[in-house]
Amino acid sequence: MAGHVTAKLKRSLKAFAVVGLVGAVAVFLARPFVPFVPFGNDSGPLDTTPPAYIDLEAEDRAPSTPESGDGELEDIAHRPVESVLQIGSGEMLTELLSRAGIASGEAAQAAEAIFTRIDPRTLKAGQKVTITFAPSPYGFGRGPFRQVSLAADPVRDVAARWTGSDFESVETRRQVTRQVAHYSGTIKSSLYESAGNAGVPVPVILAMIKTLSYDVDFQRDIQPGDTFDVLFEGWYDTKGKLVRAGDLLHAGLELSGTQISLYRYEDPQGQSDYFTANGENVKKALLKTPVDGAKITSGFGMRNHPILGYSKMHKGIDFGVPPGTPIQAAGDGSVEMAGPFGAYGNYVRLRHGNGYGTAYAHMSRIAQGIHTGRHVSQGQIIGYVGSTGRATGPHLHYELLVGNTQVNPMSIKVPTGIRLAGRELERYLSHRRQMDQLMSSIPSATHIGVGAARLGRLGN
Ligand SMILES: [Zn+2]
Repeated sequence: MAGHVTAKLKRSLKAFAVVGLVGAVAVFLARPFVPFVPFGNDSGPLDTTPPAYIDLEAEDRAPSTPESGDGELEDIAHRPVESVLQIGSGEMLTELLSRAGIASGEAAQAAEAIFTRIDPRTLKAGQKVTITFAPSPYGFGRGPFRQVSLAADPVRDVAARWTGSDFESVETRRQVTRQVAHYSGTIKSSLYESAGNAGVPVPVILAMIKTLSYDVDFQRDIQPGDTFDVLFEGWYDTKGKLVRAGDLLHAGLELSGTQISLYRYEDPQGQSDYFTANGENVKKALLKTPVDGAKITSGFGMRNHPILGYSKMHKGIDFGVPPGTPIQAAGDGSVEMAGPFGAYGNYVRLRHGNGYGTAYAHMSRIAQGIHTGRHVSQGQIIGYVGSTGRATGPHLHYELLVGNTQVNPMSIKVPTGIRLAGRELERYLSHRRQMDQLMSSIPSATHIGVGAARLGRLGN
């Protein structure tokens, strides 16, 4: 699975780098990137703290500049010798250096210099380490060990360099600019696949799915021919290659003609969340699918009861999922009931706002801490799929209640809670217009500098 994802990531990044280059050449007016330091006051709502690094290996990294202090480099045929090694699983830097044939004393000194700049614990198996040796005085083979360097993160290289008497640590920064990228396309099978093929980086696709899952049932709602639209931030190097994906700024889907459009919005207090086009917070709606990867095995309505044998009203929805699958609270709320409940088996009922309730039955077990009166937040695990009570096999029986009456979760439009209003709504709508303008100005599969975007000099 992990290998599959990595291969996918690499493939999509390659596509991304190619198409990205076009945009980078077209407009390249962004300011240089300074990690973890907020941009100036003029940067407005696009200003966000970069998320944790994602490891996007810079494969075509320029070789480090060799040292030429000792006069041995004059003959151009006698170039320094570089070798690139990957850190093995559990391998320490000193071990890697000795694997490269470096004496333990030198290896220890070089590693010590490197670790004045980075935390040894941040080194990962598979990470590339470049070792440079002086040119051989004989014209073949290699001379003495001169430098070891590695990428501390996507924008920073650290090295330990021989000074003639010891190793000094050196840090170099790659020039990276923050840009906004836009992608749109048609869904053939799944959003994951189609967005990936279009070149959207995997972390961005995952963020899209997470954000849209409050409004979209990915098992049911997506049809071939539906379209997606995504706007996100990314940090790009001078070759137009994405080195780090940033925040998802907009995620849109058009599903059989229905438009779903979500925008990231940061309030004046710096809290950010996703809102629908008219300013409703996506998170406050109840989740459509309280279990991951679920297939509906029995819908709401009359059916022949599999155990009782006669026609009976099925007052919920059955999701066929393997036993033990975690069940998530469909929304914020409080636990109204938790425990064995007749034919329902192990059962949890939650009460949300506006008279809505949700109930979850046949659990193998109820999660720890889920007791009557306790508060739960949306997405919190409240139990695990099982087949307790009257059930033919493991599944989640899920009910949506209005008051105490079960209603069909698939047909009712559950109201959203928080909705921006007044000045806050105005501020949001202006932000939304800015994002819409950005999207219409950036051709699909390209990215442009944020600075240029903010000045409104787009589309030429
Ligand atoms: Zn059921």
